[in-house]
Amino acid sequence: MTTPSTPEIVDLPSASTNRRLRAHPDDAGRIVCEGLVRIYKVADLEVVALQGLDLVVRSGEMIAIVGASGSGKSTLLNILGGLDVPSAGRAIVAGHDLGKLSRRERTAYRRRTVGMVWQQTARNLLPYLTAVENVELPMILDGQGERHARATRLLETVGLGDRAEHRPDRLSGGEQQRVAIAVALANEPDVLLADEPTGELDSVTAAEIFGLLRRVNHEIGTTIVIVTHDALVSDQVGRTVAIRDGRTSTETVRRTELADDGEHRVVHDEFAVLDKAGRLQLPRAHVEALGLADRVVLRLVDDHVEIWPDGGRPDGERR
Ligand code: ADP
Ligand code: MG
Repeated sequence: MTTPSTPEIVDLPSASTNRRLRAHPDDAGRIVCEGLVRIYKVADLEVVALQGLDLVVRSGEMIAIVGASGSGKSTLLNILGGLDVPSAGRAIVAGHDLGKLSRRERTAYRRRTVGMVWQQTARNLLPYLTAVENVELPMILDGQGERHARATRLLETVGLGDRAEHRPDRLSGGEQQRVAIAVALANEPDVLLADEPTGELDSVTAAEIFGLLRRVNHEIGTTIVIVTHDALVSDQVGRTVAIRDGRTSTETVRRTELADDGEHRVVHDEFAVLDKAGRLQLPRAHVEALGLADRVVLRLVDDHVEIWPDGGRPDGERR
């Protein structure tokens, strides 16, 4: 698989590991969404951006969320980042119930528990601060010490040790996103959320950024959720969750398989997601191929379930 093309890689600060071990080992970095709903009211209109979304991300997992524009990806990430609150349902991140945080707890949550990276580089970095000053800023807001040394080290970690004194306008788009990742990691968050972090990058640079995120996930153990509309991302992460109309619809899990010729091959298994109430979203192609509409007939057959169009013959002979 691709390896990050950063030559000047140093070990990540061991403090991160220690801190992680000290945190509640089961909760740290775990994300649970149950029946998450977000309704936007615009004038007299209601837009249902999330309609009962269920999702569990294990602590230390790295997943991608894909879906068409308008499917609710950013809405979900804003809720997980503590920037927005659900209209109904629950979102729990690293043990914090995001619907129940006080204003003060919410601020602390945003400073320490999550780090965020946005698509627009301008939203990630302050233009008049150098790279190292940008990384120090979240530490200042959180009242942390030894900032300069730690910020410098983080920049080395993302492969930009020699760009510390550059302002964003002197950095390429990919370098700016690397700094943004360092900023997001400044306070050693349990969870890193990235909304289309490679949306403005060419494919080679995008692959490098994915490689860096994979390394952060692997070496620091940060839970990482990347939103993207690039379906090819499933090669980069262990699990890709597709959102359709404000709900998780399918999941693609990547695994390696030993083929007959002795070679290891990457295989993607695709699953439909069954929600807590037993609801299932059929792929659009299946629905169209059989002209399924309004009602279908379900039949339990030994070890599987058949779905028949209304007017089909489920009582006929078995296949
Ligand atoms: P995505 O990131 O997948 O493109 P979003 O989460 O941004 O989707 O949007 C989901 C839906 O919610 C869309 O229909 C969008 O128009 C609507 N929406 C998002 N943010 C707002 C808002 N602040 N006010 C009103 N509607 C919004
Ligand atoms: Mg979006």
